[in-house]
Amino acid sequence: MNAFMPRIEIALSQIRHNAQVLSELYGQKGISLMGVSKAVLGNPAIALAMIQGGVKFIADSRIENIQRMKDAELSTQFVLLRTALSQAEAVVLNADISLNTEIDTIVELSRYANIHHKIHQIIIMVELGDLREGILPCDLYQFIKKVLSLPHIKIIGLGCNLACYGGVKPDNQKMGILSELTDTMEKEFKINLKIVSGGNSANYEWYESAREVGRINNLRLGESILLGRETTNRKAIPGMYTSAFKLIAEVIESKEKPSLPFGEIGQDSFGNIPSFQDRGIRRRVVIALGKQDTLISGLKPYRDLEILGASSDHLILDSKNCYLKIGTEVDFSLDYGGLLAAMTSPFIKKQFVQRVRGESVEFKRDLSLF
Ligand SMILES: *Cc1c(COP(=O)(O)O)cnc(C)c1O
Repeated sequence: MNAFMPRIEIALSQIRHNAQVLSELYGQKGISLMGVSKAVLGNPAIALAMIQGGVKFIADSRIENIQRMKDAELSTQFVLLRTALSQAEAVVLNADISLNTEIDTIVELSRYANIHHKIHQIIIMVELGDLREGILPCDLYQFIKKVLSLPHIKIIGLGCNLACYGGVKPDNQKMGILSELTDTMEKEFKINLKIVSGGNSANYEWYESAREVGRINNLRLGESILLGRETTNRKAIPGMYTSAFKLIAEVIESKEKPSLPFGEIGQDSFGNIPSFQDRGIRRRVVIALGKQDTLISGLKPYRDLEILGASSDHLILDSKNCYLKIGTEVDFSLDYGGLLAAMTSPFIKKQFVQRVRGESVEFKRDLSLF
């Protein structure tokens, strides 16, 4: 009997499998992978599973997560996905490569690289329409010219990021622009751009339909390795596990109650005025899990239960015809938002398990690093 709740059960072998399937798939057209660890806070055991599956780099948006993996003596090439000027020294000391879009930040990186007798490698991100990070193609020439004057910085590639903010899909046209820019900049400056990183888990559809991938030779994958899905339609990728992570929490109240609140209605705990549908008397359960722990809209119960709502510490479910005793465990699948928040909650224990015919068996050695 596993007493700890709430907890996330993590099947490392499934994450390793997913990383392996994707490494082989993308490898067929010469694309290497960066395993993105930000959704799991740079958990070293999970990053190791990605490396065992064949990813060539570990990428994270937070320098603290990279520090954590280095402290755990994980050995790989670390890539920082989001670079802040104020963290330049930590970036130079901890990341092998960083993604960049601002000259002042790169100047600072060069300054610290000089102090620490290093050459810091960067990938320059190009804006292709999603409107998060990136240098507009028309400004790229001048930008690279400035960077090349910095003695302790080496530009090793170009990249782009789509489908994150604007929802813009990676397609042949966008990838073609990135390939062309790579060729042009190499010729103009007589440099070698050895990494051309075309995107993230949203690039799956483009890859599957593309006859050739041009200069694109790298992708940065988080969600598709962790949750087994591509991210333009959130379809499961064939041959991949989609339940490497399960969130499990405890029933703390189970009663028949009216479905309509009674009394005068004002604001709820989050400042909304709620409205309800009258379904008569229903079986309801309260679960010890709340908005402080995860993104409730990112949860899906495995059993036939309906999530009615949540406050900061209580999740309320219609248990339909099923009677759930208090103390019962209820398990949920997670989407990316749910995973991100749950992994960040200090109240949720992270436990590595092996799945044997659907049942979870706890690892003898507790690899939990929280
Ligand atoms: C988070 C992130 C990724 C990974 O995105 P997924 O959709 O999880 O594959 C890739 N690149 C950058 C720059 C990111 O910030």
